[in-house]
Amino acid sequence: MTKPLVALLSGAGISTDSGIPDYRGPNGLWRKDPEAEKLVTYDYYMGDPEIRRRSWQMRRSNRTLKAEPNTAHVAVAGLEKSGVPVRVITQNVDGLHQLAGLPARKVLELHGTARQVVCTKCHARGPMEDALARVEAGEADPPCLTCGGILKSATVMFGERLDPVVLGEAVAITKACQIFIAVGTTLQVQPAADLAGVAADHGARLVIVNAEPTPYDDRADEVIREPIGTALPELLRRVSAGSGR
Ligand SMILES: [Zn+2]
Repeated sequence: MTKPLVALLSGAGISTDSGIPDYRGPNGLWRKDPEAEKLVTYDYYMGDPEIRRRSWQMRRSNRTLKAEPNTAHVAVAGLEKSGVPVRVITQNVDGLHQLAGLPARKVLELHGTARQVVCTKCHARGPMEDALARVEAGEADPPCLTCGGILKSATVMFGERLDPVVLGEAVAITKACQIFIAVGTTLQVQPAADLAGVAADHGARLVIVNAEPTPYDDRADEVIREPIGTALPELLRRVSAGSGR
């Protein structure tokens, strides 16, 4: 018997045990603070060197790059190591699924990654660490070393479109999977919300692991409200043992 393809959609809730707050959810920090939201809004960022200077300072103090994977990330990587085909679609930009040992090719980052920078002109990429070292050394707004263009975090800012290739792959995986697990996401932000619906429409077993109710709970085959750090490893053990459906 072939093992079922598991698609796991992760949101901010999977990383709170790693000390990363919810920045961009409906109740996220950025949405509650219009000044902070400007720092991650494309037009403000591109149009105002002062906004960029403050953005780099925010990135310097951001704990995301120092965070470690928690038991939930480790459990997802463990499921893949146990031989179950797994693809992760994440709303997070922290890279913690990969740090936990999941191969990068198995992870689709809908909102990009905070671990890299990208040039807004020539699209060259580089490590965030290197750019932050330049800020540390006194460059308030370090330009692209290749073309001199404006550098930004390789995350999708407000006002930017999601990468259509990444999004297309996410939809394809969602349609193909037999089990779709939504973890730590309120399913209120697109495209995450749509993906849960697509999974259900295509006959996948839909499992939702989230502390708060989501708009898709009544379409789910199973809803788990327990803390993710314990509930997800337990759920993935069941999936691995073949009793997940
Ligand atoms: Zn460039």
